[in-house]
Amino acid sequence: MQIGINGGRLIDPGHFDGIADILVKDGKIVKIVEKGDDSAPDPASNPQHPESKIIDAFGKIVTPGLIDMHVHLREPGQEHKETIESGCRSAAWGGFSAVCCMPNTSPVNDNGQVTEYIRARAQQLNLVRVFPVAAISKGIEGKTLCDYEELKQAGAVAVSDDGNPVMNSRMMRRAMEIARDMDLKIISHCEDINLAADGAMHEGAVAKNLGYPGIPGASESIMVLRDIALSELTRAPVHIAHVSAAESVRAIRDAKARGIRVTAETAPHYFTITETAVKECGTRAKMNPPLRTGADREAIRQGLADGTIDAIATDHAPHSNKDKDVAFGSAANGIIGLETAVSLSLQLVRQGVLSLTRLVEKMSTNPARILGLGSGLRVGHTADITLIDPDREYTVKSENFQSLSRNTPFDGWKLKGRPVLTMVGGRVVFEDLHT
Ligand SMILES: [Zn+2]
Repeated sequence: MQIGINGGRLIDPGHFDGIADILVKDGKIVKIVEKGDDSAPDPASNPQHPESKIIDAFGKIVTPGLIDMHVHLREPGQEHKETIESGCRSAAWGGFSAVCCMPNTSPVNDNGQVTEYIRARAQQLNLVRVFPVAAISKGIEGKTLCDYEELKQAGAVAVSDDGNPVMNSRMMRRAMEIARDMDLKIISHCEDINLAADGAMHEGAVAKNLGYPGIPGASESIMVLRDIALSELTRAPVHIAHVSAAESVRAIRDAKARGIRVTAETAPHYFTITETAVKECGTRAKMNPPLRTGADREAIRQGLADGTIDAIATDHAPHSNKDKDVAFGSAANGIIGLETAVSLSLQLVRQGVLSLTRLVEKMSTNPARILGLGSGLRVGHTADITLIDPDREYTVKSENFQSLSRNTPFDGWKLKGRPVLTMVGGRVVFEDLHT
């Protein structure tokens, strides 16, 4: 079976940006022909070939398969919220050919057996690629470090106690040293739990108005600064998860300028909406870290624009209505993100924050680089490819989501631009090319 993807705008950040045809065969990219080069034959226009298929990509953007380096798939243990299968379908629909799943499942992914289970299940499903992120500490409790050799052998691509911070700095130092020697990336959920205390949303005027206890930006940035200090001490690289606060952006920018090995991600909700969404959407706008102020949102955009923030990840966090339809203070944290991420991120391009190439980079090649995964549209590479229609307009309808959960503050939003095809290893796992 060979597939030609013809006439699209091919963007391979740092390598190519132009109209081209791609020929995919046996799971790999076997030919790329730049349009306008008359001497080259149209690679896939071979109607006699019984097993060839042509995808008309005219007017579409063709990018390396998008990688979401921060999702919660909930399996094992909370399959009523999401399963590896529904999460993979949600990812494919959202244009992602690969996701990295966080370890706060039940049981926690803190041993090789759980890591292997996730990988085996994903392989059996054969939808998108699933790269497990295992725990830093047993039970993500911050008391005993996991066996990183066992986790790496089982297929973990990074370690994180996401959901919980590693509050003990000595333990984080040790984790960084071991992870560094094993070439495993640490992904840090930065939160000073004593400062955050029982806070339910960002500390400020809106929280005061609603009577909810607040979480200051400093509860994030204090730990960002600590992890930067520990990275400097150990020379271990550290990746900061879901950056939400202006103070954190500043800390990461300064650390990068000093040559510290720190990378960072943010999520679409942090550059799209603010704390005021809590007034309109209630618990559908409750997450950790919380939505912050307009000034924080602007700082996140600045951080994306100047390269301080390397990646856009969704922190896809499915929860059932039972977990959300309760008092604000006791509602679960998190929103789903896989199926709206591309559309929300494209707004950054239309608003002049990022070029299209920089956006593609933050959703594909940068996550790949941070985690040591392959990416890129080049001859010989695995055919993980996403097609985006930048002009497709639609209304977000959570009842139609592939995810098992519906917890989004973006329900009813009219958005422009969305993924229309996701290819993984030459297989089309999602296609919606025609309206
Ligand atoms: Zn987290």
